[in-house]
Amino acid sequence: MDKSKWDLSTIVGCRKALQAGEISAAELTGLYLERIRQNDSGLGAYLTLCETEAVEAAKRVDEYLAGAVVESNFMEQFLLAGIPYACKDNLTTKGIRTTCASRMLAEFVPLYDASAVERMRDAGAVLLGKTNMDEFAMGSACENSALGKTVHPLDKTRSPGGSSGGSAAAVASGEAVFALGSDTGGSARQPASFCGLVSMKPTYGLVPRYGLVEFASSMDTVCPMTRTVEDNRLVLSVLAGKDPRDMTSLALPEEWYASLKKESLVCGLRGKRIALAADMKRYCDRATAENTVRAAKLLEEAGCIVEEVSLPSPEHALEVYVILTAAESSSNLARYDGIRYGTSGSGDSYREMGADARTMGFGEEVTRRILTGTYALSEAHGGKYFHKIKQVQQNILRQTEEILSRYDAFLMPTTGSTAFPLAVGEKAQDRYDSDRYTVYANLTGLPAIQIPSGGDGRLPTGVSLLGRRYGELELYRLAARLEEMLTGANRTEVCAYGGI
Ligand code: GLN
Repeated sequence: MDKSKWDLSTIVGCRKALQAGEISAAELTGLYLERIRQNDSGLGAYLTLCETEAVEAAKRVDEYLAGAVVESNFMEQFLLAGIPYACKDNLTTKGIRTTCASRMLAEFVPLYDASAVERMRDAGAVLLGKTNMDEFAMGSACENSALGKTVHPLDKTRSPGGSSGGSAAAVASGEAVFALGSDTGGSARQPASFCGLVSMKPTYGLVPRYGLVEFASSMDTVCPMTRTVEDNRLVLSVLAGKDPRDMTSLALPEEWYASLKKESLVCGLRGKRIALAADMKRYCDRATAENTVRAAKLLEEAGCIVEEVSLPSPEHALEVYVILTAAESSSNLARYDGIRYGTSGSGDSYREMGADARTMGFGEEVTRRILTGTYALSEAHGGKYFHKIKQVQQNILRQTEEILSRYDAFLMPTTGSTAFPLAVGEKAQDRYDSDRYTVYANLTGLPAIQIPSGGDGRLPTGVSLLGRRYGELELYRLAARLEEMLTGANRTEVCAYGGI
């Protein structure tokens, strides 16, 4: 095939090439596996590769394609047919180890696929492997992984972000066409911002969490990480939909899913109202703030009404997030006692064995959060402390919804800086600060999309649009337009090695 004619770095491009018969799914998977072989030892995006399974899955897609293509709405039905992807290692994969980058689960081979993984397979996507992350998704730099180090594709002295850092690095360096990540407080959007990618954190409940290893269940979400907005919409339209195995997943009217899948993203922006985060200088570096303002200006030039609005309770949101997630995680992670779940410990009693397993199995950050959470929930301080935090969360929700009743979307930086240096002995607090903007979508359950906003000349910066509940299509439309307007600026800093 003439590679200059076909863009094999995006889902849309791969679909075109597959549909035109220019490349087979097996060849496409072969190209990506080859890229991983050449590149990943220096990058560390993957913890586990599933080459054999990938080759077989691609072959099956080719068989279908050969049989179905003539009369076909095959590509319509199987939106991700033959597309090689990477999956964060906190989504269970049947027969393929799922570690959450923890010593505690280093040997865990699940008996079932996560709902998201099942949906990827049903849509024809080809799983290449499982990606590195911060242990149990707690962190912002991938540096809390107990099983490996991942570096930024553009600068090996820097972090790809976290916790879905492996997924971001894989896509940005052409080691996967797209990836699944998870986001509890920014874990998909922040690494996407560091690596110049697009990521949508959907409305809570839209994508089932079945098989997503819990961190803080009331905020955990599964997210697509892609190179483009259109690719992102394609993956989300496959992921969305109720699964009875997750009681927090929701069923929306059929038309809603149909529009997410089919409706054009091209739309007029005249009269759209955009709130722009005020006070950026307090929380951002210069390039990030300037690029956010530039995005706002472009929207204004395209007909939007842009007004500065203060973030709701900026002095509390991050703190509320830290305490709530610690509390939920301390309860969720109680099951890892080395008997019911996790690597076994030794001792003469259940207590001793559990203590040994947990001491050996959990890293420093996970331990810190469990202790913080146990403290917040304990009877002595307990009830009252936790209830107060829940009330502040409710206030933040009310304030955010009030803003979004007056504006179509809230534009803000995704995170305050470009990728940070891989730090030895960095304080946890400095890392928590990088979630200041992202936590709003998780505390409120609302959708938010990150897209690249340009860079500082060396590394990408990102901007986010926070939207109304189930307003994903609207966000994709705004983001697609912004992406188009920003394209020149974006491309210079993103995707280290370019695509395949
Ligand atoms: N960086 C955040 C944290 O450490 C976000 C984690 C996440 O979204 N999983 O909690």
